[in-house]
Amino acid sequence: MNRRRFITLLLTSGAIIAFSAKGYSMGWFGTDKQKDIGVFPYQLSREEWKAKLDKDAFYVLRDHGTERAGTSPLNDIKEKGVFHCKGCDHPLYSADAKYDSGTGWPSFFQPINDNAIGTSEDNTLFATRTEVHCANCGGHLGHVFPDGPKPTGLRYCMNGVAMVFKAA
Ligand SMILES: [Zn+2]
Repeated sequence: MNRRRFITLLLTSGAIIAFSAKGYSMGWFGTDKQKDIGVFPYQLSREEWKAKLDKDAFYVLRDHGTERAGTSPLNDIKEKGVFHCKGCDHPLYSADAKYDSGTGWPSFFQPINDNAIGTSEDNTLFATRTEVHCANCGGHLGHVFPDGPKPTGLRYCMNGVAMVFKAA
């Protein structure tokens, strides 16, 4: 092996190692399931959330729980107004985007604006679902499914206990 070839080999293997290291780190960080879960504008400690929220809201918003279908009084709301996050009062959905999905959970075909919610991949319950959370406090709200009505074709399936309704 001559010197030049040795250097080429050295550089090539260096590049391969660097590339692998990049792929490895991306596996850990770049494809993080909860990459958009992170630092939210509105933050409280777990103890502060516990003091602020009732037990059912805490279970859903902070522990990713799901309320029993058909239990939320928000299911029946048909008047104009806005649904806000129960954790931080951030506006989430206009009543104009609410529809009866027949699921027993308050359902919407779109959020009130681009800054209302965030999403992340949820791999619990042996399925990959898209989790929806409040963009302001990160509180878990529900999931979004691709079987909604026009114009978006999306169904934002929300836990009523995670929201408050303010009539217009
Ligand atoms: Zn919130």
